[in-house]
Amino acid sequence: MLSGTFRSTTTVALFLLTASGFSRTVTAQDQTGDLDPRIVKLVASISDERLGAILNKLGSFETRNTLSSTDSSTRGIGAARQWIFDEMKSYSPKLQVSFDSYHVAKQGRITHDVELRNVMAILPGRTPRRIYVSGHYDTVARPGGQSASNAAGAPRDPDAPGPAAADANAPVDNLAPGVNDDGSGTALTIELARVFSQSGLDFDATLVFMCHAGEEQGLIGARLHAQKAAAAHVPIEAVLNNDIVGNDRGGNGIVDGATIRVYAEGPEDSPSRALARFVQRWGGRYVPSHKVRPMARPDRFGRGGDHSAYNQLGFTAVGFRESRENFTRQHDVRDTFEGISLPYLTQNARVNAAAAATLALAPPPPVVVNERGQPLITRAPSGYDANVRWMASAGAVAYRIFWREAWGPDWQHDLLVGNVTTVVLPNMQIDDYVFGVAALDAAGHESFVSAYVSPPRASTPVLTAQQEQ
Ligand SMILES: [Zn+2]
Repeated sequence: MLSGTFRSTTTVALFLLTASGFSRTVTAQDQTGDLDPRIVKLVASISDERLGAILNKLGSFETRNTLSSTDSSTRGIGAARQWIFDEMKSYSPKLQVSFDSYHVAKQGRITHDVELRNVMAILPGRTPRRIYVSGHYDTVARPGGQSASNAAGAPRDPDAPGPAAADANAPVDNLAPGVNDDGSGTALTIELARVFSQSGLDFDATLVFMCHAGEEQGLIGARLHAQKAAAAHVPIEAVLNNDIVGNDRGGNGIVDGATIRVYAEGPEDSPSRALARFVQRWGGRYVPSHKVRPMARPDRFGRGGDHSAYNQLGFTAVGFRESRENFTRQHDVRDTFEGISLPYLTQNARVNAAAAATLALAPPPPVVVNERGQPLITRAPSGYDANVRWMASAGAVAYRIFWREAWGPDWQHDLLVGNVTTVVLPNMQIDDYVFGVAALDAAGHESFVSAYVSPPRASTPVLTAQQEQ
């Protein structure tokens, strides 16, 4: 009944020094066959030089505020979005680049009616299921923010509203370079569009490289796109959103260039949490020098990002955030290239690339519930066993079962099984462990894990009898 082999969950890269003094790298797949050399190559082809050039170009538009002027070819959001469009279009005829446009009425922080354009590049796969890599290219700088901050001697809240404009209908054209927020996530997205479209790889999933607008006014571009996708039943399987991922120097002086945070909403075994664990598992294998730090919460305290717009419409999405933030540069004229660490941004791009490529090459994650949403897990046959069942995933030739103690965030054990849809683990009490299953193709590309979760029970009102006083 049990088949398959136990696999180590860690992979080690060996760095050998040759006698001549030149270093030679023997990567993990030479040792274990666990990694796909094509993904290794794709990850390595991400260029810090190109990321730097994109960041400088984005900064050159001086502002990319969603409400800024669109009549210049060199300054403002109109020039910026056209450049992003043309840049992605130049990478490969395989990339379908378009403006995802909306007419947004004046509301909230949208101080006048505006045409909002997300810039979207689609790399079609064999199937319509979609993996997104995204950032927001719009920027904001609160006028007076720098002087207010200097005067107070402490960093202000980067999300605090600025003073109201004298004329609400005027374009918002004050300097807002936004090189890190979110030039960094935008550059990462654009660079991944390049390496994926030029990789020659034949992906199962369709990849979407999405540069959102309107984030700073309340995730407007992401919400509009997610709403449209939900209404049209577009099968978005995962969103890897990157917002402020280019700086590793905290405003408090603490530097951490070897960690990236990945925020994922609950509850504890939600698909978004599974996606964060996936990024940790596969990012950690392909980029072992960079630590992925999953965060079991939607985002940072009181702060938001575009991944939440997808979450709110039921999509699986996580938010990448740099290890240490410098609040004095955010939403400020000081958000310039000087605040960027290119090697750090490059590592973050590589983690995204490893996760997105693995997901897009892998079969879809298995469905582990029946039509009524009940988990396909029982105690059969003995009444004391773990009997896990799932629906076959298209293209899968094997599955990996994961489990962990019912107390604890990370998978502790895994077991590779063949092309089956039921496994019995004798004498494993299903009440004491969390179980999940991932689908693998013939080359070993693994989906994220679908966990068996007990659906919440509805509270049934209890009837009470009228009593005589
Ligand atoms: Zn941002």
